[in-house]
Amino acid sequence: MRIIMLGAPGAGKGTQAKMIASEYQIPHISTGDIFRSNIKNGTELGKKAKEYMDQGLLVPDSLTCDLVVDRIAQDDAKNGYVLDGFPRTIPQAEALTEALKARGEAIDYAIDIEVPDENIVTRMSGRRACLGCGATYHIKYNPPKAENVCDACGKELVLRDDDKPETVQKRLDVYHEQTQPLISYYTEAGVLKELDGTQDIDVIFGQIKELLK
Ligand code: ADP
Ligand code: AMP
Repeated sequence: MRIIMLGAPGAGKGTQAKMIASEYQIPHISTGDIFRSNIKNGTELGKKAKEYMDQGLLVPDSLTCDLVVDRIAQDDAKNGYVLDGFPRTIPQAEALTEALKARGEAIDYAIDIEVPDENIVTRMSGRRACLGCGATYHIKYNPPKAENVCDACGKELVLRDDDKPETVQKRLDVYHEQTQPLISYYTEAGVLKELDGTQDIDVIFGQIKELLK
C-alpha cells in the first residue's frame, strides 16, 4: 500500500500518518522529520534546508526529490509506505510518478485532509514536537500525559520555530500556491480521497481505515 498524505501544514498529516504506519506496519516517511534530523545532526543538507524552513519556504526540489526516491527504494518500503509532506510541488509529484513507473508501481491512495486556514494557526501554535523521536502533540486536542514531556521517549517537547504565527501565515501562502495544485494532479490520477480534517483525530482515522479496506 503506497499512500501519500496531502493537506495544509497543521492539517493533521503527521498525526494520521503515524497511526496508519503503526496499523498497517509500513514505514512513515516524513520529509520534514528527515530535514529536522539533518539539522539536529549538523549535516550539510540540514544547514541548507534550515535556511528555507525558518522562512516558511519550501526546500528546493533539487534537495528533496532524490532523497525520497532513494528512501522508498529501501528494503523496508518494499510492501508500501506512507509519505507525509512529500510531494509538495508538481515537479516533486512528477518525479515520484516517474520513479515509481520505472519499477511498475504507482501511488494507491492520496489522502487529502481538509482544514480551513482559520483553524490552522490554532493547530500550529498548540503543536508541541519531540525532537527526540518526532512524536507530535497538541496542548489542547492531543495533550501529552505530563506537560511538555514526550509520552513515547520522555524527552522535552518544544514549539517548532516554524510553528510561530508569523511563519505559519507564510507556510499557508506557500501551501496554496505550490502544494494545493496536487489535489487536481491526484484527482486526475484517480487516487484522491478527501476527508474533513476538523473532526476528532480518532474519527478521521476510522474513516481512513474504511477507505483503505
Ligand atoms: P501536519 O503533519 O499536517 O503538519 P500534525 O499532524 O502535526 O499536522 O497536526 C498539527 C497539530 O494539530 C498537532 O498539534 C496535532 O496534535 C493537532 N491535530 C492533528 N489532528 C487533529 C484533529 N483532528 N483535531 C485537532 N487537533 C489535531
Ligand atoms: P513539515 O514537517 O512537513 O511541516 O515540514 C516542515 C518544513 O520542511 C516545510 O515547511 C518545508 O520548509 C520543509 N519541507 C518538508 N517537506 C518538504 C518537501 N517535500 N519539499 C520542500 N520542502 C519540504
